[in-house]
Amino acid sequence: MERIEARRALPMVGSLKAPRRAEPGPPPRSVRVSVTDRCDFACTYCRPSRSDGYAEKRLMTPAWRTMFEALRRAGVERVRLTGGEPLIHPEIVPIVSYLSSLGFEDLALTTNASQLTRLARPLREAGLGRINVSIDTLDPARFRALTRGGELGPVLAGIDAAIEAGLGPIKLNTVVLRGVNDDEVERILLWAWEKRLVPRFLEVMPIAEGAKLVGDHLVTATEMRARLAAHLLPEEAVGETGLGPAKYVRARRDPGLRVGFITGTSDTFCATCDRLRVSSTGVLRPCLATDDGVDAAADARAGDASSIVEKIGEAWAMKPDGTIWKGCTEETAASVSMRAIGG
Ligand code: SAM
Ligand code: SF4
Repeated sequence: MERIEARRALPMVGSLKAPRRAEPGPPPRSVRVSVTDRCDFACTYCRPSRSDGYAEKRLMTPAWRTMFEALRRAGVERVRLTGGEPLIHPEIVPIVSYLSSLGFEDLALTTNASQLTRLARPLREAGLGRINVSIDTLDPARFRALTRGGELGPVLAGIDAAIEAGLGPIKLNTVVLRGVNDDEVERILLWAWEKRLVPRFLEVMPIAEGAKLVGDHLVTATEMRARLAAHLLPEEAVGETGLGPAKYVRARRDPGLRVGFITGTSDTFCATCDRLRVSSTGVLRPCLATDDGVDAAADARAGDASSIVEKIGEAWAMKPDGTIWKGCTEETAASVSMRAIGG
């Protein structure tokens, strides 16, 4: 059983299953990079266990440099480093420093914050702009259960270190699961606002392990918002152009405070998706919800940025038609690895 899980947890370059867009549109401006599929947590909606297997051949730092150079040359403006857990990559600071030297408009990172106390300042000094932190509960025992062994204390200290280092605006990601942490939504909202952070509540998506949880544990964004109504202005939730699928509502008590909601199950955002992804193994992926993609690992290892630029075009042409394709809810989503593809 464990062997099957291990194989399913790793990405493959599959044949194209998703319907392509009639026109690929302008080149990708926004890219998410899984710098490592390794992680020190095993969140229940992301990994089946702590021993579910890692990719055999991930890109090393010199290959990443070529990949980043190619992304820049292809016209990419926004890069978000993710994983797996990007902060357990031993060379994350030099990686950020190199990315920063390439002059991307926006350089961001998503983390579980377990290593943030140590790394917040060096990352800021290396040129990191923004950070998103995932935190699903403020209860230590629950945190341990949800992450399969993670400790809440260092995560909270890491968030404070990020605030002190000036890594703002800090946005939080909380996956809300019925019967698991949905009783904490209000508490997390108020705690985050107290620190002037931007809490964001995510529907669990039927991606990877999430596919097993959606049936019993999905709380829709509509329900989350209804539960928080007393704290929110009665206004339409609005997105931030080019900055992802979250839609924000302002606080009643202070319109400078906001909360974001991310659908993904009750409503997919494929129609407006402008992202390309790069997996930890060097595969250019047009969609989070399939293993389809173009393998650029050999070019990255050979230092051939020009060839990668061409492959970025090929991968982009495979971008699914978001009016037909409902990525996160498609059947293929259950067998992708969030860690490898870069959630
Ligand atoms: N390890 C880092 C972290 O947890 O922030 C970065 C990688 S993680 C895959 C990126 C985000 O994906 C996290 O906020 C996590 O909560 C979210 N995520 C993972 N699996 C999910 C699922 N099935 N449904 C909704 N969100 C999910
Ligand atoms: Fe690791 Fe992030 Fe996945 Fe949790 S959600 S197991 S922290 S990669």
